[in-house]
Amino acid sequence: MKRCLHILTGLLAIIMLADPCSAVGGKWTPQQLLQHDRQWLAELGLQVPPQDLWSDAEGGLLQAIVQLNGCSAGFISEQGLVITNHHCAFGLLQEHSVGERDVIRDGHLAQDPADELPGSTAVAIVPHRFTEVTAEIEASVPEGADDLARFQAIDRRKKELVATCEATPFRHCRVATYDDGLLYLLIESLEFRDVRLVYAPPRSVGEYGGDVDNWMWPRHTGDVSMLRVYADAENRPADPSAENRPYRPSQFLKIAPRGVEDGDFVMVTGYPFRTYRSLVAAEMAERAELYFPQRAQLYRRWMDIMESSVAADAAVENVLSSRLKGLANREKNSRGQVKGIERGQLLEKKRSAEGEVLAWAAERPEHRQAVAAQRGLSEAVESWRQTSWQRDFLLEQATRGPLDLQMALTLTRWAKERQKSDLERHEDFQDRRRDSLLRSLRRDQKQRHGATEGRLMEDLLQRFAALPEPQRVAAVEQRLGEDRSAPAIRRLAEGLLASSQVGDLDARLAMFEESVETLRQRHDPLLDFAFDLGQDMTISEEQEQRRLGLASRLRPLWRRTYEAYLGHPIDADANGTLRVSLGHVRRYYPRDAVFMEPLTRVAGIVEKDTGEEPFKAPDALLAAAPGAPESRWASEDLGDVPVCFMATGDTTGGSSGSPVLNARGELVGVNFDRVWENIANDFGYNPDIARNISVDMRYVLWTLEVLEHPRSQALLQELGLAGLPLGASSADRDGN
Ligand code: ASP
Repeated sequence: MKRCLHILTGLLAIIMLADPCSAVGGKWTPQQLLQHDRQWLAELGLQVPPQDLWSDAEGGLLQAIVQLNGCSAGFISEQGLVITNHHCAFGLLQEHSVGERDVIRDGHLAQDPADELPGSTAVAIVPHRFTEVTAEIEASVPEGADDLARFQAIDRRKKELVATCEATPFRHCRVATYDDGLLYLLIESLEFRDVRLVYAPPRSVGEYGGDVDNWMWPRHTGDVSMLRVYADAENRPADPSAENRPYRPSQFLKIAPRGVEDGDFVMVTGYPFRTYRSLVAAEMAERAELYFPQRAQLYRRWMDIMESSVAADAAVENVLSSRLKGLANREKNSRGQVKGIERGQLLEKKRSAEGEVLAWAAERPEHRQAVAAQRGLSEAVESWRQTSWQRDFLLEQATRGPLDLQMALTLTRWAKERQKSDLERHEDFQDRRRDSLLRSLRRDQKQRHGATEGRLMEDLLQRFAALPEPQRVAAVEQRLGEDRSAPAIRRLAEGLLASSQVGDLDARLAMFEESVETLRQRHDPLLDFAFDLGQDMTISEEQEQRRLGLASRLRPLWRRTYEAYLGHPIDADANGTLRVSLGHVRRYYPRDAVFMEPLTRVAGIVEKDTGEEPFKAPDALLAAAPGAPESRWASEDLGDVPVCFMATGDTTGGSSGSPVLNARGELVGVNFDRVWENIANDFGYNPDIARNISVDMRYVLWTLEVLEHPRSQALLQELGLAGLPLGASSADRDGN
């Protein structure tokens, strides 16, 4: 197998430019993969023909790459088994951790189908077909439309296309927008709602290192879980039912038992959620100076509130842990973005690069429009910062804060949107979303802790009260009156929650079917507040739609010119669609004089273990660790079973759970994180520090054997891995 060893990577950037094995950024669509120069792909290390990965007519291996609960995942057996991260199945584990039974703590391995754990909100989306609809979308915009009308026309056309597409039974459709309108693709997928947990390691493996190690290297986290997708007797998506059978996917990934080594070529395949590389400098400044710092501060405070509830009563841990984990992940991410932008001087570099493109474009009549486009985008964000940014930020965050308020906002919005025709509603409240809204309203009960919601509410109201005067929101102002003191705000929070029925599951489910009038007649203080806050949100949303309309007009002009200036294709920002990123397993130099190897070992777990959470591995694992070098999953070169590996993959949030494939398209790992220095990768790829982190499949298989033997036999058999020879030599690995 082709390898690229770069002992001097990071120092010799010039050599790297000419070197096919250098780190290559880019989150490529399946179609772009086919457009890349074959020779270049082969030089990077790809051994399978690109059309085996994807063909618009026949699909390909990438059909095995699915989206699961907002994460990425991949089929790994012909019996519908998918692999993803442990943290992506955390909500499901929480659902089943009741009373004495704690599957978060203990993990779970189903012995037979009856033992698999259904996930009430788990959904697997399997890609089927991509059709470009850019011209059609553009044609829907009426002549002379202003930016709001432009947004609305595009939005409506997208919904019409989705409705037509979903008229075919069992389809899940979406019109995805790339770089605000450079490209629109209609993506047809199959949506499966019967998804059951087969395997999750104990938390002490799946979350080893916890928040301390999150976004860090070296890493020893076994962040994986396996779930099974079920279908009806005809192998079609179906509602959860005891009659369903394991889905037989058209493609599934085979595990490469011999894994990877330093320098090996890899592909990270998944659904990266959101990046900011297509932004102009002024827009990037808004993220760097306002959005990420304020998000970090807000989430830190909400974490403190939740953590103090857990400290006061340990039983609250399982109730709040999923939300706490999510907040901690985003809080650390936000700090990492700010730090990375500063350290890499990304803003300064962006301004200077942009200046060069502007000068280049100004001299070329065919690109002059791009100069105006860049100015238009910059002015729009400047004016937003000066007028309503603080208010809009807080209104957006209100939908993520106190759970009772989130639920009240869903109920009132759902009632209001149902007064309109389906195509006129906000896309999150169309009829096609009804079931998932209802499922979330039910599931959220398990994550609700009354006293904590009260304190979160108080914090949120304090923030609303502290907004600059011109940005204050009517819903809060009407209720606060003259007295803006802390006790008055506390009384308001208590008043909104104490006599509300929204926190009661049965009452809430009944409310879901009620009209605006009926909900109003309840005179529930929280519902009334949510109705009023909804009015403020409508104002803020309309302004956002104007900005999106403007961006859809201007950003494509700017991006086309940017591409022409560079003279080579660029990838669009991540948007939750299927992408492939190409890279190599590679070491890195995070700081002066510090060198980090790209693979960690089981021995490293023993070394890190303190016996205290989050560094407290299961006793059975620690006891087996000395024998790991002898196991069939050990790497000879490493002298141990590898645990995690780093590569130069171009990933972001949503890439969690992405299958990592070797040059032959075989599964070698499951992506779950990035290194700290690489968080600001969302704003630009830097080959020196762009490292994604994956669990090595050999560790997954070793822990299965060590912790679950002999119960793991059936699963290993299903994976085609029962009875492989012990150990693996480098010669075996290279011999293919
Ligand atoms: N840890 C991330 C996630 O949760 C993955 C990443 O951002 O690299 O999606």
